[in-house]
Amino acid sequence: MDEDPLLQELLPRIRRFVDQELIPLEMEFIRRPWDQVEPLLAAKRRRVQEMGLWGLALPTEVGGHGLTLAQFGRVSEELGRTPIGHYVFGCQAPDIGNMELLLHHGTEAQKARWLMPLVRGEIRSCFSMTEPDYPGSNPVWMGTTAVREGDQYVINGRKWYTSAAEGAAFAIVMAVTNPEAESRHRRASQIIVPMDTPGVHRVRNIPVMGQAHGGWHSHAEIHYQDVRVPVSHRIGPEGEGFALAQQRLGPGRIHHCMRWIGICERAFDIMCRHAAHRELAPGRALGDQGMVQSWIAESRAEIHAARLMVLDTARKIDAAGTYAARDEISLIKFYVANVLQRVLDRALQTLGGLGMCDDTPIAFWFRHERAARIYDGPDEVHKMSVARRILRRYRP
Ligand SMILES: Cc1cc2nc3c(=O)[nH]c(=O)nc-3n(C[C@H](O)[C@H](O)[C@H](O)COP(=O)(O)OP(=O)(O)OC[C@H]3O[C@@H](n4cnc5c(N)ncnc54)[C@H](O)[C@@H]3O)c2cc1C
Repeated sequence: MDEDPLLQELLPRIRRFVDQELIPLEMEFIRRPWDQVEPLLAAKRRRVQEMGLWGLALPTEVGGHGLTLAQFGRVSEELGRTPIGHYVFGCQAPDIGNMELLLHHGTEAQKARWLMPLVRGEIRSCFSMTEPDYPGSNPVWMGTTAVREGDQYVINGRKWYTSAAEGAAFAIVMAVTNPEAESRHRRASQIIVPMDTPGVHRVRNIPVMGQAHGGWHSHAEIHYQDVRVPVSHRIGPEGEGFALAQQRLGPGRIHHCMRWIGICERAFDIMCRHAAHRELAPGRALGDQGMVQSWIAESRAEIHAARLMVLDTARKIDAAGTYAARDEISLIKFYVANVLQRVLDRALQTLGGLGMCDDTPIAFWFRHERAARIYDGPDEVHKMSVARRILRRYRP
């Protein structure tokens, strides 16, 4: 992969920009309110556009670079080394998933009104599926409904953990449109809801590990009360919401997993620097301790293994599609999330009190990336589904 000429050209440029322009800014993002940080990030986004590095995850037909998933995975790792990388380069969740969805399944009108401004970074969006009153790990069971009245849907329901809802121009809402459908997988649809539609109430930004943040960097609880949108706002055929969601998740998990590997690399770097320089007594470095050496060796091995697993999965999706790679997609989701958690924990422990405060990004990641084992399907659900598929092959 390192022999890939496109990556040989791209990755050093991205790394330089991340090191020189973004890492010096990341503490502002971690410490300051979103409305103060957003203009600083907007200036960096303009620089990325001028450098021709915007929208690297997108196909050429909408002005992207047409990278394969395996190629973008390497980019995602570089961007993941700072919490603001993906946002500044215009390939942040949840927008990137919504862009892919609209690109492949949107109508021409939806593309013109929602996709293109999103691609250009002029607006933001969010994805509103999980509900406080129903288990997100069983997404076919939900309470939000979209009832057809003439040429409109009337949407009612409660959602939460809708990431980046504050300031978003629209939400893609998953709602039951076909309760009578025999298959539970064919009852819901995805519908575009402009956030300024009457009846959309953003109740609060949910404090995550004590911090609610704002803007792109927030997770909202939203009530949809008699929200009316035209039927033409539905994405894809009626009742196909889950099928579309499944397609969205394959590439999305590669993006997340490679971002987590970028976080691991940065945490590893901070941990090793600290271990090499911190002295426990004059002339006795922290890194001389066998226990710290063991954390370093274990982390190095786990990050390496995780990267190879994810890139192998990305290549399989590139070659044969998401469905063919569904076992690997489940495996990387829980495996890499746990590597991330272990590496962050070891880095934090190595740093001691320094690890607990926000003088490095470790504590921020420790708080916010614990969720990696929960969102996009909790560990247990992925383990269960992959094990069931494996066992099925052994049955007579
Ligand atoms: C930071 C963050 C951001 C998020 N962003 C979004 C977003 O933008 N849009 C959106 O729609 N949602 C989002 N989510 C929601 C996320 O997708 C759900 O939290 C997730 O799907 C789990 O659903 P739940 O929270 O309802 O947990 P539940 O389904 O209630 O599960 C609770 C726990 O039960 C266990 N469990 C569940 N099923 C099984 C099983 N079959 N076997 C064994 N154990 C099981 C797991 O340990 C699980 O963690 C986000 C969540 C977080 C934390």
